[in-house]
Amino acid sequence: MTYVNTVKMLQDTMRNNYVVGAFNIVDIVTMSAVIDAAKEKKSPVIIQTSQKTVKQLGYKILASSAKLLSQETDVEIAMILDHGTDPEIIKNCIYNGWSAVMVDGSSKPFEENIKITREIADIAHEHNVSVEGELGHIGGVEEHISVSDSNVRLTDPEKIREFKELSGVDSLAVAIGTQHGLYKGKVSLDFERLGKIMKIADFPIVIHGCSDLPEEDLKRIISFNPSKMNISTEIKHVYLNSYKDYLCNDNNNYEPINVIKLVYDNTKKLVEGYMDKFNSSNRY
Ligand SMILES: [Zn+2]
Repeated sequence: MTYVNTVKMLQDTMRNNYVVGAFNIVDIVTMSAVIDAAKEKKSPVIIQTSQKTVKQLGYKILASSAKLLSQETDVEIAMILDHGTDPEIIKNCIYNGWSAVMVDGSSKPFEENIKITREIADIAHEHNVSVEGELGHIGGVEEHISVSDSNVRLTDPEKIREFKELSGVDSLAVAIGTQHGLYKGKVSLDFERLGKIMKIADFPIVIHGCSDLPEEDLKRIISFNPSKMNISTEIKHVYLNSYKDYLCNDNNNYEPINVIKLVYDNTKKLVEGYMDKFNSSNRY
């Protein structure tokens, strides 16, 4: 059993120059595709669940499946609640077997963000669950998180140490211009800011909104050696496009297992591609 929290997993990336991919799953098919990709690529991996996914599938199915699928392998597998804004859901994930939670207090002022995050971090750490916080405010739309351009706040590098210390987080998501959802128009990332953040941070840094980035921008982010990069939107697109392709091309054959296989294969392929780009393959 190598179901772990993200503390050592992300610290290892800082020593050895690679990124751990965090992939948002939407059901057990996508969860098993992500975990099988990790096993095949011999790459650490983080399963991400949104609050919406948790509400739909339930705590017990998600946690027991993640633990079960993490058996009989040396590959480290973690499961994190992504963008936890509801304290009840975050606490229930901690009590029900998630190995990590993200506390998203990024819509609040600095001091309040610290307070919200600290409260949960203390509970999480009592249960050996690691914690990700967010400083700055990442733009775009992803399920219950919607941040318009005018509300985006890029992370102040000078504030990250203070935030980490006072909030008690193990890793920190920063805003450098990446966005949730698909990119509209030209992507404009603040690499100078990311460089400053990476220079100051002696703890794992997380980049959200890495779906749909131009190859050049993706490579450049990876070159700064953040510890975790999040892929969500692309999995949703692969999922629904698999159904669309199946129904358009094979519509006389109403066979659910065929389309489930298509979703599994396409998700696994996408994830394996990212593991190679993140340089996290062959770590065991
Ligand atoms: Zn995010």
